[in-house]
Order: sequence, then C-alpha cells, then structure tokens
Amino acid sequence: MAIIPYNPPTLKVEFVMTSCIFCKIIAGTIPSIPLFEDEQILVIDDVHPAAPVHKLVIPKKHIATLNDLAAEDTLLMGHMLASSAKLAQKLGIAEKGYRVVTNCNAAGGQTVFHIHMHLLGERHFNWPPG
Ligand code: 5GP
Ligand code: ZN
Repeated sequence: MAIIPYNPPTLKVEFVMTSCIFCKIIAGTIPSIPLFEDEQILVIDDVHPAAPVHKLVIPKKHIATLNDLAAEDTLLMGHMLASSAKLAQKLGIAEKGYRVVTNCNAAGGQTVFHIHMHLLGERHFNWPPG
C-alpha cells in the first residue's frame, strides 16, 4: 500500500480555493458574467455597487491581501491597474475621472480576502475618503 505524505501547504491552498468566494467565481462554481477575462484576471460587476460604475478586477491567483504580495506578483498588479485604466476608457469614464481602490485588512475596509481592485465611476468621489 502506498503511503500518502501529509502535505500541509497543499491542503491549506486547497482549503482556501474551496472557501474563497472569488476563487469560486473564477473556477465557475459560482456563475458570473465576466466583462473581461484573460489568463491572469477576471472583471465582474460588484454585487453591491457603490457607484453607477463599480467593477471588480480580480486576479485568478489567490492572494489574500496586499500584505501577501510576493516579488513575482509585481507584473500582475501592474496588469490589473493597466486593465482598470483600459476598462475606464472602454466605459467612457476615463476623461471625466474615476477611482481605483484596493482595501487592505479590517481598518482598510477589506471584506473579501482575495486581492482585487475596485473600479468606480460615474459619480464624484470625495477626498479624503470616508
Ligand atoms: P472589499 O470590501 O474586500 O474591498 O471588496 C469586496 C467587494 O466584493 C464588495 O464591494 C462586495 O460588494 C463584493 N462582493 C462580495 N461578494 C460578491 C459576490 O459574490 N459577487 C460579486 N460580484 N461581488 C461580491
Ligand atoms: Zn481566492
């Protein structure tokens, strides 16, 4: 009989993939209507929009928070930001202006622990934010 080695890191990754709502959306377990998709990211409408335009730019790689970024994720983050700007152009909000936000942990207002960028537009945003 083969002995299957105990592998905690793999188990942890698999648990996260099955419990994370954005991983489920990416895997198709929870159906969604993607506005854009490539090999690295998925863009969907936020289920509780905070502005007339409220898109979520989500990496297919599970990264819990900004604090968990590795050096290898730098290009991915740049791709997410550039894709947000491209999407703003496509949606006709680029010239008027818009906001791209990533919340981090409790004090930053993060509620889904799979990194994402909010693309918000079609209303005025105050500074400093609430
Ligand atoms: P955070 O609070 O982490 O910065 O942002 C999480 C966002 O995900 C919130 O704006 C929330 O409305 C959105 N959200 C949470 N669950 C779902 C979902 O199942 N589908 C979609 N499309 N958005 C979700
Ligand atoms: Zn995830």
